[in-house]
Amino acid sequence: MKTLLSESQLRGGVDEMAQAITRRYGGNPLTIVAVMTGSLVLLADLIRQLNMPVRVSLIQASSYRGHTEPGQLWIRDDMMLDVTGRDVLVVDDIFDTGKTLQRVVECVGEMDPNSVSSAVLLHKEGRQQVALTPDFVAFRIPDEFVVGYGLDYQDLYRNLPYLAVLEPSEIEAETV
Ligand code: 5GP
Ligand code: MG
Repeated sequence: MKTLLSESQLRGGVDEMAQAITRRYGGNPLTIVAVMTGSLVLLADLIRQLNMPVRVSLIQASSYRGHTEPGQLWIRDDMMLDVTGRDVLVVDDIFDTGKTLQRVVECVGEMDPNSVSSAVLLHKEGRQQVALTPDFVAFRIPDEFVVGYGLDYQDLYRNLPYLAVLEPSEIEAETV
């Protein structure tokens, strides 16, 4: 596996994104809606760099694979806080086609918040299929399949402290 972003590079990028978020919201209370499970590690690192009053809410989004048409999304929002009148920041691991983030932002938008913006660790270049663009991006990466720092392949590798590229040959060989 090839390392794409080291632990210290990740830390630097997340810290810069936290500073940008702080410039935008100042000391005003912020409700973070973290998209599970990929944003788990980012969430833990990001919130510790924010000094405004922060509430953390979870939402789960996953694409159906196999049995339904690709791109169809399943959203589970029973762990959501009440965001009525709140300034909300949706946090996700990666913006690929953008369909997941768009769907989550729409879903949160229907919950009557004061505002909704979005932050992602990674933006995969040249893959976007939606009009929405994330407000905060820590890193732009080429179109390769990455794992680590929360991102998985078949639910593994989320615990890698760095971000690595999983080569197609490794994907085939890996049948854990
Ligand atoms: P989108 O809806 O933007 O196409 O896809 C976003 C979701 O697809 C992410 O939340 C993530 O779960 C998954 N995804 C997209 N690209 C990658 C990648 O390179 N590595 C991993 N592990 N997941 C990815
Ligand atoms: Mg995800």
